[in-house]
Amino acid sequence: MISWWLGTGAAVVVGGLTWASVSPRNSLWGKVIWHGPRGDSQRVALTFDDGPTAPYTGQVLDELAALHVPATFFAIGRNIARDGELIDRAHAAGHLIGNHTQDHAHLGIMRRGDYWKRQLTDTADAIERRIGQRPALFRPPMGVRIWHAMQAAKSTGHVTVMWTRRGLDGVSTTPGRIVDRLTRHTVGGDILLLHDGIEPKGRTTPAVTVTALRAVIEGLRGRGLELVQLDELLGIQGYQR
Ligand SMILES: [Zn+2]
Repeated sequence: MISWWLGTGAAVVVGGLTWASVSPRNSLWGKVIWHGPRGDSQRVALTFDDGPTAPYTGQVLDELAALHVPATFFAIGRNIARDGELIDRAHAAGHLIGNHTQDHAHLGIMRRGDYWKRQLTDTADAIERRIGQRPALFRPPMGVRIWHAMQAAKSTGHVTVMWTRRGLDGVSTTPGRIVDRLTRHTVGGDILLLHDGIEPKGRTTPAVTVTALRAVIEGLRGRGLELVQLDELLGIQGYQR
């Protein structure tokens, strides 16, 4: 029992040092993040999951460029293998790329540490091969927080970031509903979730997201909110190196 405690303590210390060496300023290590600073800040972050997927990711990038909005893309490794040039394009436009696992497996909840480490490492490798930088932010598939996934995220240099509000654009919906969900009650510090791609088992396209995006951005700006990347909102490093 004592050796178990000692072993666990050592693992926590080593994990902490590993992360500290990646991001010395980060005091959020080990926590799950749902939002950025509250209070006077009027900053919010738009995040897009499940890409890259042609042609939707490109259409989202077109809208963001036209409206001069920075965003964060949580990419799936398998989709990068198919549409990797869209990751290049997002990165070249100044957007942040995060890790959304290799396979986005729905049964990942059944899997253990080695599986999750591979899921995270394979995707981080794929992103690094494309843009020369290794992601430091991780969003679990479907937002399911699994102990093994969280531990694997820590040990591979990632901070787990969820969201405050979601557009629910992964199901059948309308642009008006998406705009309403993401703008009506949004306040400074919120992290907003939309989709720019289709996960491997997904059936719904993000076409409705593309249609809604301009009104979402204008609605947020109309409330006096400023759109920033996730690393800027949270005050942490977006890449490991
Ligand atoms: Zn997803």
